[in-house]
Amino acid sequence: MLVIGSGPGGQKAAIAAAKLGRRVAVVERPDRVGGVSIHTGTIPSKTLREAVLYLTGLTQRDLYGQSYRLKDEITVADLTARTQHVVGREVDVIRSQLSRNQVALVAGTGRFVDANTVAVTDMTGQERLLTAHHIVIATGTRPARPDLVEFDERTIMDSDNVINLERVPRSMVIVGAGVIGLEYASMFAALGSKVTVVEQRARMLEFCDEEVVEALRYHLRDLAVTFRFGEKVAAVERHPRGTLTVLESGKKIPADAVMYSAGRQGLTDDLDLQKAGLSADARGRIAVDEHFRTAVPHIYAVGDVIGFPALAATSMEQGRTAAYHACGEPVHPMPELQPIGIYTIPEISYVGRTEDQLTEDCVPFEVGVARYRELARGQIIGDAHGMLKLLVSPEDRRLLGVHCFGTGATELIHIGQAVMGCGGTVDYLVDAVFNYPTLAESYKVAALDATNKIRQIDRMAD
Ligand SMILES: Cc1cc2nc3c(=O)[nH]c(=O)nc-3n(C[C@H](O)[C@H](O)[C@H](O)COP(=O)(O)OP(=O)(O)OC[C@H]3O[C@@H](n4cnc5c(N)ncnc54)[C@H](O)[C@@H]3O)c2cc1C
Repeated sequence: MLVIGSGPGGQKAAIAAAKLGRRVAVVERPDRVGGVSIHTGTIPSKTLREAVLYLTGLTQRDLYGQSYRLKDEITVADLTARTQHVVGREVDVIRSQLSRNQVALVAGTGRFVDANTVAVTDMTGQERLLTAHHIVIATGTRPARPDLVEFDERTIMDSDNVINLERVPRSMVIVGAGVIGLEYASMFAALGSKVTVVEQRARMLEFCDEEVVEALRYHLRDLAVTFRFGEKVAAVERHPRGTLTVLESGKKIPADAVMYSAGRQGLTDDLDLQKAGLSADARGRIAVDEHFRTAVPHIYAVGDVIGFPALAATSMEQGRTAAYHACGEPVHPMPELQPIGIYTIPEISYVGRTEDQLTEDCVPFEVGVARYRELARGQIIGDAHGMLKLLVSPEDRRLLGVHCFGTGATELIHIGQAVMGCGGTVDYLVDAVFNYPTLAESYKVAALDATNKIRQIDRMAD
């Protein structure tokens, strides 16, 4: 098996095929082992977030007062030290996992010569031909850049360059209120930058629970974030004193820096896909079937290059599933029930359906809520705003959705996912004993809230 790209999808495909006894090689640029996930995406952004939370002391201010900070003048060097350390370690782990499993790492970039042959060009320009029974395309994406904007990668940036900022900007415009835009908006706002988020749609994170999104908007406004919804950018000008973002409505927003976060483009231009009998759509994405097979059955595509949901979490599983299918190993189709984690400050996570979706589908539900301020652990850690919401079917008492906002949301959600995935009911959570004091206890509190409401309705009918 030959894998093009060493991001989460490519790595897991390669390792799974090697474990099943296949000879495997991964093609990747030498400075990019680990993919976007390790170098510019998931890992640097999440490490930066951790450094921001630690150095600003933001999460401790409910306990020690609004002026509490670990360090007054936070420099970019303070922030990047941790990122470089983590990225270095992660690259090491990946290299070691590949070599332990006898996966050959071939340095260079690959392009198709025919449906079974890939030409790999190394950094000196030398070319080498590799053939394989199965090929996995895991080349990922790059940030999409609108033609009208001139990116200098210092003051006008995309999410790939923002981690290389020379100083923390005093003010910043973020174009696009998607997950990546809002994660960076939270971090810069926590660092004290005056952030303006410009979004052409009327709302943000439409796929999330409305109450949770409202809570996030409130918290970000509290950190001096300004939202401009329903606004399009007409031009971004660079001036000696900073940038000026001009909106189609005529508004002008001066700022030290601008970050674009307006979608991503599949990295397929240089693959010579047509030589393998394949093609990509206008956004560079490759179509696949439920086994991640492309139109050419022995060529698979996984990860961001196939589009939604474009997460490291799903890319890994797609890679493993594709490799199992290619090797004839039985494999379950990927479950529909998948968690979503959004690392804004505070963080958001959910699994299953939202109240809006259930209402639209005419599915009755009852809501059970637990607020962190009523949990001993919530008081201990100083998180008064966090909450967990369960959506429960009053008919069969199964969980229809779990929505969490606040400290540990992205971890806590997996309790709900496990209960839902195993077909459990709200009664399991009512009866279970949780460690005390924990945030996990919120499941029991929310389950009791939901079942008390259901009982009240049942009693009416008695
Ligand atoms: C700022 C940011 C934050 C994110 N945060 C999260 C998060 O918190 N959680 C989460 O689950 N996901 C997150 N993501 C998404 C996650 O990073 C991606 O879903 C994931 O990296 C996709 O994995 P992939 O396997 O498609 O490959 P990628 O990680 O995109 O890597 C593809 C690799 O292929 C290589 N490549 C491309 N073309 C060729 C070629 N011709 N020859 C050889 N190699 C090639 C590239 O060099 C690259 O290294 C984030 C993304 C960004 C940008």
